[in-house]
Amino acid sequence: MRAIVIEADWAPRAKTELTPDELERRSALDGTQVWRHPRWSLGQRPDPAIAAEDHIIVRSRAVGICGSDVHMYETDADGYVLLPYKMRMPLVPGHEVAGEVVETGPAVRSLRPGDPVAVETLEYCDRCAACRRGLFNQCANAHDRGFDLDGGMAEYLLTTERHARPLAGVRERFDEQATYEIGALCEPASVAFVGMFVQAGGFLPGSTVTVFGCGPIGLASIALARCAGAARVIAFDPQPVRCQLARDLGADIAYDTGELETAGTTPASRLLEDTRGAGADLVIDASNAGQLVRAQIESALAVGAKVLYLGVTPGSVPMRTMAYQARAASAFGMLGHLGGFDPVIALHAAGRLDLSPIVTARWPLAEAACAIRLAGDRANTKIQLVPDDRVPRVTPNAIWEAAP
Ligand SMILES: [Zn+2]
Repeated sequence: MRAIVIEADWAPRAKTELTPDELERRSALDGTQVWRHPRWSLGQRPDPAIAAEDHIIVRSRAVGICGSDVHMYETDADGYVLLPYKMRMPLVPGHEVAGEVVETGPAVRSLRPGDPVAVETLEYCDRCAACRRGLFNQCANAHDRGFDLDGGMAEYLLTTERHARPLAGVRERFDEQATYEIGALCEPASVAFVGMFVQAGGFLPGSTVTVFGCGPIGLASIALARCAGAARVIAFDPQPVRCQLARDLGADIAYDTGELETAGTTPASRLLEDTRGAGADLVIDASNAGQLVRAQIESALAVGAKVLYLGVTPGSVPMRTMAYQARAASAFGMLGHLGGFDPVIALHAAGRLDLSPIVTARWPLAEAACAIRLAGDRANTKIQLVPDDRVPRVTPNAIWEAAP
């Protein structure tokens, strides 16, 4: 089958100590310490084959490009990948994927060939202490499709019945291509869902929800907050196009932080003004700029506020603990998407949620390297790859020109 394949040189940095398992499997727990000179190409990989009773084979129909894919492509000054996650090579990337079931193992009951599915790409062990507590996203032995198992940037991928979530309800409301595009958005949307409603325990209807950073996870947070009964949703992002998308997805106000700076004001003072001094009840940091937003968040907390950290900020950022003490506020952190797919799918099937505007460009699989470069400038919100050559390419310019 055709697939995008990344290869790189196994070149552990001088002071890196690797475990026997990392050495044996050539699977680094931190890619930045080992993988050098990554090379992306459109190549051939063997077709996946059913090897267990619960396996299914999915024909990939839409695959999102995530910031972490860009970090596997970009390198530091010494040529090492920028992705600090578990990584095995050679690798088919792609962890935001939806497609059509083409073959099922003998024990599969809930799916049949032809069914549209979204694929959960975090595969948990079901045996470790975290799994026994139901914290599957924190599994100690997890494997990740697109990181240390082959992912979706290929014609086919292998998964299991429990990780393939049916999209039949979405298909009743959306056309075929939109169904797969929404399916491939389930991964980032589920990160938002699990963080907001499982880890942070949700919010009361009538609350003010604030989102810093309007990438796919921030935009999904905005739409989910609107769905779940927020009285007011206020968003911040430095890019005007993302602010417009935030409004399209349900933000009452979306501030361009560059404009605020020019006007000599701050996100915190706007938030306090917009809430008559009360502050935000749930604040979601979906940015990668914790050093810029942390102080703003801590200056505009409502009494009893919840702060949820979903963005990936490199390095450490000081926390003003007194801000949390004085407002009886709580901070939550979350990574992972397990537990979010079914509700995100159900909300689309019920017509309560439509995340499809998040996809701002669509490219054929064969041009993945171009699309990844384009994703690297962060001006697009979500670029998806479409392995089916019949689906026309939509470039960002075409989308922005078509916008009213
Ligand atoms: Zn586990």
